[in-house]
Amino acid sequence: MISKVLIANRGEIALRVLRACKELGIATVAVHSTADADAMHVRLADESVCIGPPPSRESYLNIHQIVAACEITGADAVHPGYGFLSENAKFAEILDAHGITFIGPTAEHIRVMGDKITAKQTAQELGIPVVPGSDGEVKPEDALEIARKIGFPVLIKATAGGGGRGMKVARTEADLEEAVSTARSEALAAFGNDAVYMEKYLGKPRHIEIQVMGDGMGNAVHMGERDCSLQRRHQKVWEEANSPALNVEQRMKIGQICADAMKKLKYRGAGTIEFLYENGEFYFIEMNTRLQVEHTITEAITGIDLVHEQIRVASGGGLSVRQEDIVFSGHAIECRINAEDPRTFVPSPGTITHFHAPGGLGVRVDSGAYQGYRIPPYYDSLIGKLIVHGRTRVECMMRLRRVLDEFVIDGIKTTLPLFQDLIGNQDIANGDYDIHWLENYLASKTDA
Ligand code: ADP
Repeated sequence: MISKVLIANRGEIALRVLRACKELGIATVAVHSTADADAMHVRLADESVCIGPPPSRESYLNIHQIVAACEITGADAVHPGYGFLSENAKFAEILDAHGITFIGPTAEHIRVMGDKITAKQTAQELGIPVVPGSDGEVKPEDALEIARKIGFPVLIKATAGGGGRGMKVARTEADLEEAVSTARSEALAAFGNDAVYMEKYLGKPRHIEIQVMGDGMGNAVHMGERDCSLQRRHQKVWEEANSPALNVEQRMKIGQICADAMKKLKYRGAGTIEFLYENGEFYFIEMNTRLQVEHTITEAITGIDLVHEQIRVASGGGLSVRQEDIVFSGHAIECRINAEDPRTFVPSPGTITHFHAPGGLGVRVDSGAYQGYRIPPYYDSLIGKLIVHGRTRVECMMRLRRVLDEFVIDGIKTTLPLFQDLIGNQDIANGDYDIHWLENYLASKTDA
């Protein structure tokens, strides 16, 4: 059993995990950098430990300090949240060696899914549909032959990739040589590894991901999908569940494929299997072996607390639900509220002079922000998530419009006005968008 959890994260997700622990009667330890001494998760935790100066490398990514904080406080488990050390296999191993439970999958599964080529091969072996492409790494001299086999346009991707870097499209044979060499040099600069592979380039896909949860002993369930097509620079901005593009049969079919794959893998914990979706087909792109920012919309439509489940399976207690117990009810939308200029997306750290979160039926605000809180400039700019639930998509959108009008965050710039714009857009109202929609929309506004 887990009796004390150290939360190796900050911001809204640290608070999210803390809330789940409190509900389960588990003691909490917050860790924080000197820049976060006043943070909400630090104030609400049972104990807190300062683990270093503001730069993440020296604090939230500092494994030694975090392990030491566990030993000082007697924490018997660590929840890594998302980002930071959440997909660091070495961290999971080190905790294991110290007899501390990592609330997440095995180090081996983190490693397999962390390498793009191994992840894709594994997915394919597990029966998950993947994007047609090269079998593994592509050498420049073989690129043309492989591209002809796949068919143009093709996408060159870094095997060590992340954040969309080291990715180049070749639309025709004439573009190929340059695309391969640019992708390789970008990959070398960003990841210290110039290996690339090749995939068919999909023109207008949606991003649809499946939430899975396994007990590590061969039981696994899926909790439906999230549509995260509305992105800017590969960063998700607005997510919804269910996807406006899927019907029940499609949902249950792809969901079951993913759940079956996780059973075969004996996967433990929460995971997300990400797909591009085009013309009725799913194409695996990657698996995230952690809780995701947008897990909240899955919670809204299933009523299941994913962090409770993570803690249960990490302590060997198994899943609290069987597949047939999981019922999808209504529609949920999450808006990511960033401390950024809503037009230029330049970060806007500073002090929040006035903060009023909306409320009412079907409304959830996950945020560590409060009146007087000073947003430090060192970390990512997500300051809160607004999640709205309704019985239908239309009801959810109506509620979102009302809630956006109620939300007040003064003293800094935020992306709230962007959502006020989107809620009035006809394509959004129709659910008619792909992964390029938002960037095109933003570009059209700047031109106008
Ligand atoms: P990263 O880890 O660098 O974020 P991903 O494989 O997750 O790389 O891809 C990031 C994004 O790039 C996807 O969300 C999608 O927008 C685009 N992308 C990836 N693969 C393809 C593809 N085969 N065709 C078209 N777009 C793609």
